[in-house]
Amino acid sequence: MAHVIAIVSQKGGVGKTSTAVNLGACLSAIKRRVLLIELDPQCGLAKCFGLDQTDMKIGMLNLLRSEAAISDAVLAANPRLPRLRYIPSNVKTSQDETDLFYTLEHDKDALSRIIDLMRSDYDYIFLDCPPRLDNPTFSALKVSDSYLVPIQCEYASMGTVGRVLRAALEIRRYHNTRLGIFGFLITMADKRAGFTIKVVQEIREYLKGRVFRTIIPRDPKVAECPHRQEPIIAYDLNSPGARAYIQLAREILNNNNGPKTVDDR
Ligand code: ADP
Ligand code: MG
Repeated sequence: MAHVIAIVSQKGGVGKTSTAVNLGACLSAIKRRVLLIELDPQCGLAKCFGLDQTDMKIGMLNLLRSEAAISDAVLAANPRLPRLRYIPSNVKTSQDETDLFYTLEHDKDALSRIIDLMRSDYDYIFLDCPPRLDNPTFSALKVSDSYLVPIQCEYASMGTVGRVLRAALEIRRYHNTRLGIFGFLITMADKRAGFTIKVVQEIREYLKGRVFRTIIPRDPKVAECPHRQEPIIAYDLNSPGARAYIQLAREILNNNNGPKTVDDR
């Protein structure tokens, strides 16, 4: 049965989509069946697999409105990664975006119905959320087993973590008692920046054992994903970014002891 993980942060540009794409690719390369679901109307995830807005025909919006079959919405991500699949959001206009919010708000079980139908087909299902703590992110947290929070390695990022934790606690208390923490992931760490060691130390002190040991470095090769239209392991296996995401996938598989919970402070 799939472990369902929401990738969340109210901050944009911290590496949510890059982590969904590259961690998903690495887990699939280690023979895990992985599905990535795009809940962000920006469609950044679909772009990483070369799917243009104009080519998007069926996606989460249609599944949520019961307009399409799941099998028509699930797409192969890359011929070299046969175990990696994704569902684009298929949000093209501001009206689509409004519809996505409306459907999630008014059919509260729609997302969980869809995910339940796919649980037995995958080992991991990742939900790539928009950079806001509102409807799509809340809906994702309500249906997930756990959540992963990328934290960009800089001082300002720490302030955002408390808000994510509080939002997740609320969801856990009132809507989804099984919601745990999959882990906090330090991203875009720049070895040459003087503050990096101090920021990493602060994050680890604050969040204790819930931070992944693996740190994702700042690597221009990671930023090339949307242009290359494939995950980093498909075009530069030896880059620091690829090595870090492979290490993260191994860390996750080695730590296969279930998600930690927000109470494990
Ligand atoms: P989010 O989904 O949280 O908004 P993205 O994954 O889209 O964040 O990343 C924001 C930008 O930073 C993108 O242009 C992406 O390519 C780039 N990026 C992400 N991770 C890294 C990294 N480790 N090194 C360098 N650039 C990165
Ligand atoms: Mg994103």
